[in-house]
Amino acid sequence: MAKIAIDLKSGSIKKEDNLIIGIDLGTTNSLVAHIVDGEPVIVRDPAGKTGLVPSIIHFALDGSIQVGNDAREHLVDEPGRTIFSVKRLMGKSYNDIAAFEHQFGYQILNDDQDRLVKVRVDDSFYTPIELSAHILRALKERVEQSLAKSVEKAVITVPAYFNDAQRQATRDAGRLAGLDVLRIVNEPTAASLAYGIGLTPEDHKTIAVYDLGGGTFDVSILRIEDGVFEVLSTNGDTFLGGDDLDQAIVEHWVKQIGQGGHSLPDRQRLRLEAEQAKKVLSAERRFFTEYQGIPLELTRDELEALIAPFVDRTLESCRAALSDAGLKTDMIDEVIMVGGSTRIPLVKQRVSDFFQRPVHDELNPDEVVAAGAAIQADILAGNRKDLLLLDITPLSLGIETVGGLMDVIIPRNTKVPCGYARNYTTSVDGQKNLKVAVYQGERDLVENNRKLAEFILRDIPPMPAGIPKLEIRFQLNADGILQVFAKELRSETMTSIEIRPQYGIDEEEMARMLLDSIRFAEQDMQLKALTEARTEGRMMVQSADKFIDQNTSWLSEEEIARIRELSAELHSAIQGDQKDIIQSRIESLNEFTTPLAHRAMEVHVAGAMKGQVIK
Ligand code: AMP
Repeated sequence: MAKIAIDLKSGSIKKEDNLIIGIDLGTTNSLVAHIVDGEPVIVRDPAGKTGLVPSIIHFALDGSIQVGNDAREHLVDEPGRTIFSVKRLMGKSYNDIAAFEHQFGYQILNDDQDRLVKVRVDDSFYTPIELSAHILRALKERVEQSLAKSVEKAVITVPAYFNDAQRQATRDAGRLAGLDVLRIVNEPTAASLAYGIGLTPEDHKTIAVYDLGGGTFDVSILRIEDGVFEVLSTNGDTFLGGDDLDQAIVEHWVKQIGQGGHSLPDRQRLRLEAEQAKKVLSAERRFFTEYQGIPLELTRDELEALIAPFVDRTLESCRAALSDAGLKTDMIDEVIMVGGSTRIPLVKQRVSDFFQRPVHDELNPDEVVAAGAAIQADILAGNRKDLLLLDITPLSLGIETVGGLMDVIIPRNTKVPCGYARNYTTSVDGQKNLKVAVYQGERDLVENNRKLAEFILRDIPPMPAGIPKLEIRFQLNADGILQVFAKELRSETMTSIEIRPQYGIDEEEMARMLLDSIRFAEQDMQLKALTEARTEGRMMVQSADKFIDQNTSWLSEEEIARIRELSAELHSAIQGDQKDIIQSRIESLNEFTTPLAHRAMEVHVAGAMKGQVIK
């Protein structure tokens, strides 16, 4: 196990460059921080006013891309080209987000509901990874401008409840933005580090992190022991935050204005006034303004009555998180407040009452996560000698999947010992054998990585494609030995091998592999997206053929001809290298065949009913 420093310009190994930035990649806002003289410093805009970069991307008609405040201005005039809340899409399929699709002003592809979502702007398709990379690139540029030097290494935070796919997506976004992501850190862990909790190995504590932002609420219970942060439980509401409080104020005013006989002002403008009122009332007792001749007023008491039900809901989540962790309130040693909405005095008061202890609110609640990420980065850079660095895997380990793509099972920089499993299935009917090829490296195509071993899982009982459940498990022990297990879960057929990933590779070779992955990130991602689109396209062409075969009896000649035509167009696009063309032809074929598939279903059901004997 090793820690490697690489010089991205010369491609050589270099003396440890100690600058690693910490990034809080948020749903509504993102921030970047670094350490100066041992203390975290948030990098602010050139005017020095704010460290917050709105997590919004605008694709202008002239092809230019804006991120942050410049992009936010287009939310109203060009909603279809202005992408926000990308974090809600990370690692998600359309099925995962269908219930709240209406909240987005932009177009989300729904052609293949089980695959990862994509966002459509005109004829281009963007993955959440590409979109997040735009935000990360803007943050990277912000630091580079402020420090007048380039940065390549980062720590990025994610919510404690993010799963493997969401973490991997965040890592990929970093890489695409030209960043070597040394570690993905949980947001509550970062917040805790910002308060210096868990920084010394003797710190054995159980803490609660209460995070109420603009659109989401999370509470996490962490156990800290010997510098290791374990998430005991998480709870929350992905649609509860400051925005809901603003909305409650708007409703209150709308009722009042109605009674006063005034005509209703634009709701969007009223919402901005409501947010202003809420913020003012965190410091004062009364808010008054006049808007288009209408007096608007709110007292702190009124505000507290309006928002109490929301605060109650967050406390319900805290109760659930404690119960999941098997703890009582008096077993919590520290409570940390994160997110702009925790500035509200009622929120602080109620949370403090609930946990029966004062809460930590000394730091800026918008900045604690980024500050903690910078501290974690500083630890990784080796600047805090007092802290133990745990052994980590220097390169990612994974297997080859369809199209020669690398599917990472243990990401690089994972603490060892560790074990991860992932499920796969077959792509061919009656497939009996499965080849498992194990690779090491950071590139998206296995041909650019280092092959460690290959073996075959035999005697899978014959089943249609997609039915077998194949689990591939990687177990890496503290001595650096990797065991790979392949198992068909329905039949329990299993085989395994043992590999030493570090055997025959030196630090220089590892550094080169890392370097290449960043250098070729853009190209690799494009190739990966193209390969995925081709695989998807091939499957569509096959299913179209099958569909025609099975339904010739009732399909009209025109319909068959049209399917053949669309399928041929898709087939020819697959031969080319334009991902977006493949994607739009998949969509066209899908659009045409979906209603036919519904009809096929009705025909089959009707047929089955006819054949049924009713006794
Ligand atoms: P975040 O997502 O953490 O940036 O949180 C932003 C949310 O915090 C927004 O809903 C803001 O309206 C809210 N917020 C910011 N400052 C204050 C304040 N002084 N009082 C109440 N809410 C605030």
